[in-house]
Amino acid sequence: MNKLLTLISIFALGFTSTANEALRWGQIGHRTTGHVAEQYLTDKAAAEVERVLGNESLAEVSTWMDEVRSDDAYDFMAPWHYVTIPEGETYETVEKAEGGDIIWALEKVVKELKEGNLTQKQEEENLKILVHLVGDLHQPLHVGNGTDRGGNDVKLQWFWSNSNLHRVWDSEMIDDKQLSYTELSDFVNHPTEEQINEWQSTSIRDWAYESQDLLPQVYDFPEDKELSYEYSYKNWNTVEQRLVKAGVRMAGLINEIYE
Ligand SMILES: [Zn+2]
Repeated sequence: MNKLLTLISIFALGFTSTANEALRWGQIGHRTTGHVAEQYLTDKAAAEVERVLGNESLAEVSTWMDEVRSDDAYDFMAPWHYVTIPEGETYETVEKAEGGDIIWALEKVVKELKEGNLTQKQEEENLKILVHLVGDLHQPLHVGNGTDRGGNDVKLQWFWSNSNLHRVWDSEMIDDKQLSYTELSDFVNHPTEEQINEWQSTSIRDWAYESQDLLPQVYDFPEDKELSYEYSYKNWNTVEQRLVKAGVRMAGLINEIYE
């Protein structure tokens, strides 16, 4: 029986790691963006968020879209976490994915929330989708170039363990700092008024192009593909900046919806 359980858990672990291989900031990254956003909501928007989410914070719901990956009923959302824009192309020129993509999904849920003809459940789900996808869109590798599944196929060593480029950006660099999401929020959350205004004045598509523009830096790693201190040192400021921008912009969208 014990052997069987071990086998089952090995299988389950293997399965989970394969499923998780796809496409997300880790939990700490997502929660950081939600926690930062909470601090920039207008009073009106904060009250509306509380009406919709009850006791759950934006940080708490930020990982909902990854949790429902385990539920077949939400399979249709799987392609919404990312977009593919080959080098030299733009979202406008590229052939759109059939099941939608992150830009399409974000624009759709924002439009529906603004129109306001949603049931309580739809409004709740749309808000959770918004929170998650604003975070994902700021992780540069969620705007893939179409060659390697957003860096998932770039196998490499992270501190002498097997990993891949996508995972390094989703979670490994962040987890290695050994900070909670509230600590990380405190570290990154110092934008100036000017930055807040500038960041919030840009569009969802601009955020995707910023991620695309960061890809040369993301792919700039040693030929032996052994990444550790130096890669983290070179990229940490970018990670922090993407997290705080995501949070400030998330709040901007929510404020706009409930103004
Ligand atoms: Zn995601």
